[in-house]
Amino acid sequence: MNSSPSHAIVQLVATPIGNLGDITFRAAEAIREADLVACEDTRHSRKLLEHLGIRDKELVSLHEHNERHRVPDLVSRVAAGLRLVYLSDAGTPGISDPGYRLVNAALESGLRVEALPGPCAVVTALAGSGLPSDAFYFGGFLPVKSGRRAREVREALVRRETSIFYESPHRLLKTLEAIRELAPDREVCVARELTKRFETYHRGAAGELSAYFSENPAKGEITLLIRGAGRDQASSE
Ligand code: SAM
Repeated sequence: MNSSPSHAIVQLVATPIGNLGDITFRAAEAIREADLVACEDTRHSRKLLEHLGIRDKELVSLHEHNERHRVPDLVSRVAAGLRLVYLSDAGTPGISDPGYRLVNAALESGLRVEALPGPCAVVTALAGSGLPSDAFYFGGFLPVKSGRRAREVREALVRRETSIFYESPHRLLKTLEAIRELAPDREVCVARELTKRFETYHRGAAGELSAYFSENPAKGEITLLIRGAGRDQASSE
């Protein structure tokens, strides 16, 4: 149940992942109407607000290293009647980004929470990949430790659904090689710099893509997709 003043709300607002034109009308309005904007990096979000012509907002930082002690204070300010917007650096807050603790604490205090839809690399990459998109697994960032990474790769290769991971350009080749060793013909897609000037989708067998990226080291932001085991999508639903 929601027992807070009527305008008290926490709004998670998705922001562009590389193309400022992708901000939504609702996102801009929510930021404009907010009493307080919490963000992962105040300098980064300040630039977005300036682009929107918003210059008079109080910004407070809320990131993975301070959220434990900052969230209770923010929640009590919302409970007192504030409209709070939360922005991560790019994309949808809470998706491999801070936001979860704030949402949880707000809900536990009976506050209203809204998530405004908008840019998100995992969804954009899936839609453009050409891989079955009716069901998918999102694993967030692939683990850095090689044993845990190898396990994620093995699991992806037997899973029926398309698997999607956020990946660092420095580790991409190692991951593609790990896929190639077990399933050289498995189709993968490397979605790079989505929505930006040099956006590229590399689609092909793990063997082909690992050969390509060993010659052309990857740069920029990367989302990696792996086709599910023995499966195509039957219809467009
Ligand atoms: N919350 C964000 C979202 O909704 O997509 C994700 C934040 S996570 C900290 C950042 C990672 O997402 C990057 O390291 C990369 O793997 C992926 N990513 C973000 N922007 C991207 C882009 N423009 N193209 C491809 N992948 C991207």
